[in-house]
Amino acid sequence: MPDVPRVYHPRDRDIPARSEHAPDHLDGLNPEQRAGATAMGSPLLIVAGAGTGKTRTLVHRVAYLIESGTRPERILLLTFTRRAAQEMLSRVERLVGAQGRHVQGGTFHGTAHRLLRTFGPAAGLASDFSIMDQADAEDLMQVGRAHSGVAAKNKRFPKKETLHYLYSRHVNTEKSLHHLLHEEYPNFVEYEEEIAKIWADYTGRKSDRNLVDYDDLLLFWTLLLEQAPDLAARISGLWDHVLVDEYQDTNALQSRILRGLAGAHGRITVVGDDAQSIYAFRGATIRNILDFPGQFPGTRVVTLEQNYRSTAPILECTNTLISRARERYTKELRTAREGGEKPWLVAARDEAQQTRFVADRILELHEEGIPLREMAVLFRAGYMSADLEIELARRKIPFDKWGGLRFLEAAHVKDVLAFLRILENPRDEVSWYRILMLMPGIGEQTARAAIGSMADMAWTSGAFGRFAPPPRARNAHASLVQLLELLRVGAAPDDSQVSRDIARVRQMYDSLLREKYDRPEPRLADLDQLQVIAAGYPSRQAFLSAIALEPPSGTQDLASGADEEDDVLVLSTAHSAKGREWDVVFLIWAVDGYFPMARALGDADEEEEERRLMYVATTRARNHLFVTYPLQAYNTRRGADYTLDQLSRFLDRGVRDTMERVALGENDVPAAELAPPPTTVDLRALLRGRFGA
Ligand code: ATP
Ligand code: MG
Repeated sequence: MPDVPRVYHPRDRDIPARSEHAPDHLDGLNPEQRAGATAMGSPLLIVAGAGTGKTRTLVHRVAYLIESGTRPERILLLTFTRRAAQEMLSRVERLVGAQGRHVQGGTFHGTAHRLLRTFGPAAGLASDFSIMDQADAEDLMQVGRAHSGVAAKNKRFPKKETLHYLYSRHVNTEKSLHHLLHEEYPNFVEYEEEIAKIWADYTGRKSDRNLVDYDDLLLFWTLLLEQAPDLAARISGLWDHVLVDEYQDTNALQSRILRGLAGAHGRITVVGDDAQSIYAFRGATIRNILDFPGQFPGTRVVTLEQNYRSTAPILECTNTLISRARERYTKELRTAREGGEKPWLVAARDEAQQTRFVADRILELHEEGIPLREMAVLFRAGYMSADLEIELARRKIPFDKWGGLRFLEAAHVKDVLAFLRILENPRDEVSWYRILMLMPGIGEQTARAAIGSMADMAWTSGAFGRFAPPPRARNAHASLVQLLELLRVGAAPDDSQVSRDIARVRQMYDSLLREKYDRPEPRLADLDQLQVIAAGYPSRQAFLSAIALEPPSGTQDLASGADEEDDVLVLSTAHSAKGREWDVVFLIWAVDGYFPMARALGDADEEEEERRLMYVATTRARNHLFVTYPLQAYNTRRGADYTLDQLSRFLDRGVRDTMERVALGENDVPAAELAPPPTTVDLRALLRGRFGA
């Protein structure tokens, strides 16, 4: 051990309750919240429903600790996302001033990362390790997979994504591979031994190359705390108080970390709501909340029952929704926010009508004075906003998307669009390259050669056919030539050309997709969706231009000060909306098979998690809640084991009774059918005039 000086920390003294001389900010709390913010001397568990001020209480507790003499940098605040931590800390700063900036805050993973850079070297982990993201980790898993040779012999051997998924689940849930295979992938049970070998290979390669994956971050932190007493003492000695928000969504490793950090002194506060636990699929466990008092002796439990977020009609709806949950510990909520309209339950004829309703209503509310940033559209899965994203772009309504890629950025959607693009513009080199690289047998070199040869032939329509491929690429070349010929034949006049084109591309592309993924279904569903959207456009060109109007991407995570000023609508998966609130919330696709997702049906636990997720989504609304469902979706949907197009089972009779049923009028015209107005101005002339020409 290096010679480390002992560090002296003043002991935490019990601070007498100061209710009479409470700092101003405690006035903004009700008595239970105030107890949560100021209780000292024992571990603290705050369990309470949505919108009861749990996060607010935590913010005030941090402020209170600082005002009571705890040094800010000796407080650790753990949250689910970095965004959440930043937001809470800026609220702390508003309460206590600039010193609040020194509070240590972030996610478990972020904190683990910082610690490992410092303490890793003393435990055999070189400090210059690099972190692999999920895609890197999957690729490294692939190296071991290829090396083992089993995959080549067995066509049905799990793909790299599955191998990595299982590994990650094993680390986070502490369930054995054997158990996980039986539970989730019975078709791969026979490969248990091979999978374990590939994991060993993966672990070895990580170590040889000084790489650390996301799961290692938590695992190494846990191991440092449990296996290296000296280091553990130094790490847990860094903070006097540990506070955790959204505790219902932490996993077994995270609970061990907290025991390592605060088990000895008990100055720990966790806050959560079992009714909002929505990450079991990633290994989170509600047991963490239930077992907390047992793990931290002397725990004081504070409950909150007053909801401050939503109006009474919205709360009545969400209370009813969650009252159906099989198990529940937190109580029914009350609100003092009387008045307001009932949540709307809006039946739309189809997706296009749902989209128009949402866009129309957003613009109306905006005209009434509600900023766009006070509105959100939520959905179960990222791809469900595809049609809406295109419509918002068309109407120039700016939006950020949280959770899930923007639909048009998904690799498989881009792949299919690349085919349409080269048909429209045979010189689109980028799209050619993308397509060629998809084809088995064609690599970088052949792709470049093919593009060069087409350029030499001035990109004429038969140019690709005349390119002479190397032997390895002959099959791919032939099938691509065939497909392109098929695509060049025009459609029948009343047929949708674009959607037919996509169907033809998919005759080839779908099998590439199935080759590549063990679970191709969600991606295939995206392509179904793309086909349906395309059918609404009169021509390929109209379709491609509409989607090119998509506003620039990648704005979502640039958390800068300017962002807050921007008046931007939020589109979010229900998962990513956790902890947030908006004046106006739309929940779209409240359809069985969509929400709950088809794959959750038939599994009681998963269905319960979906119900809690819908509770999370609907409890984000302060003043207006709109739940919409298209009466008919497309019949190409996969998986025939559930009824098509039924209203979500969670919106049963009792829940519907708390809502206002709304049908949509017929006076709307599909976007694509709008005829362009007659030419009345000359834009070029206007522009010239502007500069005095
Ligand atoms: P969730 O379960 O969704 O995370 P939460 O329990 O963390 O919700 P908060 O987000 O802290 O709830 O609070 C919900 C809303 O109620 C916020 O706008 C908050 O400012 C407000 N609020 C909470 N407590 C009070 C209070 N005592 N007085 C006034 N407003 C309050
Ligand atoms: Mg909260």
